[in-house]
Amino acid sequence: MKWIFSVLLAALLLLSVTAVAITIPITTPIIIPASEKAVDRSNADASPVIDKTGGNDGDSRLKLRPPGLEKIVFIHYKKGYAKPPWAGGKKENKCYDFLGKGVKWKTLPINYVIDPDNSGLAEDFVTTAISAATSEWDSHTSTQLFGTYSVVHDATWDSDAPDGRNEYLFGDYPDDNVIAVTVVWGYFYGPPQTREITEYDVLFNTRFPWGNGDVDSTVMDLQNIATHETGHGLGLDDLYDTACSEETMYGYSEYGETTKRTLNTGDIMGIQELYGA
Ligand SMILES: [Zn+2]
Repeated sequence: MKWIFSVLLAALLLLSVTAVAITIPITTPIIIPASEKAVDRSNADASPVIDKTGGNDGDSRLKLRPPGLEKIVFIHYKKGYAKPPWAGGKKENKCYDFLGKGVKWKTLPINYVIDPDNSGLAEDFVTTAISAATSEWDSHTSTQLFGTYSVVHDATWDSDAPDGRNEYLFGDYPDDNVIAVTVVWGYFYGPPQTREITEYDVLFNTRFPWGNGDVDSTVMDLQNIATHETGHGLGLDDLYDTACSEETMYGYSEYGETTKRTLNTGDIMGIQELYGA
């Protein structure tokens, strides 16, 4: 009988050795391409990989994820389109929300490029509208957020990997209900003090006519939408509660709308909480 115990003991030892071998930490870092780890809200069926990448209730999950370069894609819908499945309810009675705790720019100022090609608009009109959008955010915080912009003709909307440029451009997004999409790149997981935004790109969908909503109510107002999308680039999330419909960060827009050009109470509270009053 004694040999049976010996065999059992040996088997147990072998099992525990195997278990130890499996749990030994791998010291060589595994590099996963950013695109594979990407948090993408733009799935074909419009259902997000994770429904909330930030905010107060999302933080416990964020801490469980290893730090690394990630992206968040924001889709700005035409008013009347169904509420996106990831849209949460209004929180704590406030009309502002963040991409995640600590998720903001830490290297400032932000320089950017504007590509007016395919807009059907004069270059001057495009640069004036977009620079007015960035200035609006800058005028409500003590930190200087934006530096300079330049006009380019080769901007790309970087959803696979960031290219080091913050870009505003026009192009086709294959959905008639989507006015604009913004991809925000950065480090969104791990301890909040290590998180940061490193790049963002805004694509204005050429399926819509663009222009000045003040003089033509049949166009999408470029400055209006640019101000909203820039808010994502700075670290602010969409709002879908109709009680927040006056905010720049309200998630829907319509033709001729210009209310998002100027920040509302919630937008100002949000930007000041991120970058100072
Ligand atoms: Zn948005």
